[in-house]
Amino acid sequence: MANILILGGGFGGLVTAERLAESIDKSQHQITLVSPNMNFTFYPALVHLAFGECDEGDITFDLRAKLEGIGVRFVHGQFIRLEPHKKTARIAGDDLNGDIAYDYVVLAIGRRLATEHTPGFFENASHLLGVRAAKNFGDKVRDFTDGTIVVGSCPDGRLPVPVCETAFALARRFEAEMGDGSVRIKVIFPESLQAAFGGATLHKELESAFQHHGINVLYDVPISEITAEQVLSSDGHAIDYDLLMLVPPFRGQAILGELGITDEHDFVKVDGQMRIHDLEKGYAVGDIVAFSGPKFAHMAVRQADVAATNIAAEIEGRAPTAEYYHEIAAVIDAGGPDSIFLHYGIWDDEMYRLKKGHVWSWAKDLHDKVWRARHN
Ligand SMILES: Cc1cc2nc3c(=O)[nH]c(=O)nc-3n(C[C@H](O)[C@H](O)[C@H](O)COP(=O)(O)OP(=O)(O)OC[C@H]3O[C@@H](n4cnc5c(N)ncnc54)[C@H](O)[C@@H]3O)c2cc1C
Repeated sequence: MANILILGGGFGGLVTAERLAESIDKSQHQITLVSPNMNFTFYPALVHLAFGECDEGDITFDLRAKLEGIGVRFVHGQFIRLEPHKKTARIAGDDLNGDIAYDYVVLAIGRRLATEHTPGFFENASHLLGVRAAKNFGDKVRDFTDGTIVVGSCPDGRLPVPVCETAFALARRFEAEMGDGSVRIKVIFPESLQAAFGGATLHKELESAFQHHGINVLYDVPISEITAEQVLSSDGHAIDYDLLMLVPPFRGQAILGELGITDEHDFVKVDGQMRIHDLEKGYAVGDIVAFSGPKFAHMAVRQADVAATNIAAEIEGRAPTAEYYHEIAAVIDAGGPDSIFLHYGIWDDEMYRLKKGHVWSWAKDLHDKVWRARHN
């Protein structure tokens, strides 16, 4: 019998659990998932939540009910230490305070919002990387009447899609006010658009979409500090704002530091089969992984597929052979004909496909609904 322990209940953890539950004999092996959250949250819909286009109940579901329904044990708690020599994980939480033994462990604990790297972020900036934060930002948008709205990303904030989608949603919300000049929208990136999207050359299409919506986009603004009125950069920019939404810097989880499996930003180093360097029977998937470029849910899902396939092979005594390929497949929903679909190979820039049109806005909406219905 093998015990498979999955730490984290986001896209990476959930899909690893689902794929394993489909592919191994659950009367012989046990799959356990540990999460500090009782709910799964469909993050790509948080921009819609902020703008009142859906409710919290539409984009979250009960993890315990979902997992128990597919024969996976759910533990409400958080892992605080891994003991690779004993093959145990120390868990603290409602369901358990103690150790869980494992034969295989999957780290799927996502990224940390490292706001401490940008002085003034906590005091002055909004973000939308969680249900509560998205709702708070939505409240501020509803109360906003006139002035300059700045949305953007701090250095290492590896999530360009919601920056763009927030700017487009704001432009739709304040169309009349932008017309009479009482509201202005600026988007700032710490680097070029190409760098923000892992090397994909979509700047012409995205710039024309921003221009079409009256949005002013600024590149190479590496935010270094935020005051109550201005965003300051290490290159000398001082940008006034009245409402501010930023993606903070991302880091991995410091809790893993002592294991010697992480890079300088605490992300976990893995090979192409999603196996952790220097951690026997250890796999990692999702935002916690030390791959280059932006971090996307569809990457977490594909990495989870690879990890689950390889664990199932190992359990059956076969060599793991599934390989992950690092690519972007994303829709930037501009809410109309400027919506963009991008398919780009980060490890091979010959794979490049870009399409534009209203259909991509509908397709993203439909895909999100189908994904939530299928996994709920
Ligand atoms: C606003 C927004 C919009 C987005 N839009 C898109 C999009 O359009 N397309 C796209 O592909 N991606 C998008 N993403 C990115 C996508 O949501 C992430 O890449 C994805 O959630 C990563 O999945 P994950 O499982 O690695 O991490 P997460 O989903 O962050 O899950 C990690 C889980 O681990 C848990 N955890 C943390 N610490 C511990 C611990 N010590 N013990 C146990 N559990 C722990 C957390 O509570 C969490 O449940 C968006 C993200 C946001 C925030």
